[in-house]
Amino acid sequence: MKPAAFEYHAPDTADETVALLAELGDEAKVIAGGQSLMPMLVMRLAVFEHLVDLRRVSELRGITERPDTVWIGAGTTHADVGRAAPVQRSAPLLSRATPLIGHFQIRNRGTLGGSIAHADAAAEYPAVALALDAEFETLSPRGRRTLSAAEFFTGLWSTRLEPDELLTGISVPRPAGRYGCAIEEFARRSGDFAMAGAAVTIRLDADSRIERCAIALFGMGPIPVRATDTEASALGKPAQDIVPQDVGHSATRSLSSIPSDLHGSAEYRRRLGAHMVARAWLRAVAEASND
Ligand SMILES: Cc1cc2nc3c(=O)[nH]c(=O)nc-3n(C[C@H](O)[C@H](O)[C@H](O)COP(=O)(O)OP(=O)(O)OC[C@H]3O[C@@H](n4cnc5c(N)ncnc54)[C@H](O)[C@@H]3O)c2cc1C
Repeated sequence: MKPAAFEYHAPDTADETVALLAELGDEAKVIAGGQSLMPMLVMRLAVFEHLVDLRRVSELRGITERPDTVWIGAGTTHADVGRAAPVQRSAPLLSRATPLIGHFQIRNRGTLGGSIAHADAAAEYPAVALALDAEFETLSPRGRRTLSAAEFFTGLWSTRLEPDELLTGISVPRPAGRYGCAIEEFARRSGDFAMAGAAVTIRLDADSRIERCAIALFGMGPIPVRATDTEASALGKPAQDIVPQDVGHSATRSLSSIPSDLHGSAEYRRRLGAHMVARAWLRAVAEASND
């Protein structure tokens, strides 16, 4: 199938883009890599009279290391996120998540901002951003604002972005101290969206106690979720006294919106999710312990 006819716009700057979005209203949509939007347009699951292409907006691309954070432009492709040395140094969880996204053709076109704005419940980057306490920077005709990953996702494929608001970049705190991170997921075939997955970061103190930890789950509900109670109960405990399987059970036990479909029941996904958390926890602790 082919998409319904649309008018194509290719502004040069982010300011021009949001002005255009405000002028064109609900009939306009930005397109970045097109890896989620194009399939929806060609299957006529979505119809827009105007597509505003971000490809010429160079200010949305790039990676900058700052003293405490690393900034990644929303228009940076998955492939560039995955191979950039500053991301490997300053946000290794994002680098490690990248090969799990689709296939290389998708990673060459798809963008970090597109993945986050699309907010698929099973996508890797939104959960990783949540685990990393990332901040999302936006621009609209009303100005710039910053939203935390924790407040950004509001439901399946929905976010706090206004229709005329652009995600311009994300800012991620750089790891400090004895740090480890890992992402684990289960998909039936390589390149498929995950049925369940977990992203974990851990910081140990000098006595190898858990000083900080984050557990984010994806594919386990309409939005990525942090297992905050489980994280809180691990704080201050010696890492070697914590059984990873217990962490997995604790993190998934109270989830109430796990999808159930022909790929697997909610209970099957809960068990998968618990395993993914346990594996990611084990790897993150091992990495932090080796620092
Ligand atoms: C076969 C296949 C397998 C895939 N597997 C996975 C997978 O395993 N994991 C995964 O995470 N993803 C997967 N994807 C999706 C892929 O990662 C997409 O690239 C990504 O979700 C969207 O990025 P994009 O740049 O292509 O955005 P687009 O498709 O261009 O846009 C997606 C949405 O985001 C909006 N948008 C884009 N950029 C911005 C911005 N800067 N500001 C505001 N709104 C914006 C668009 O308006 C649109 O609503 C898969 C896709 C395919 C086709």
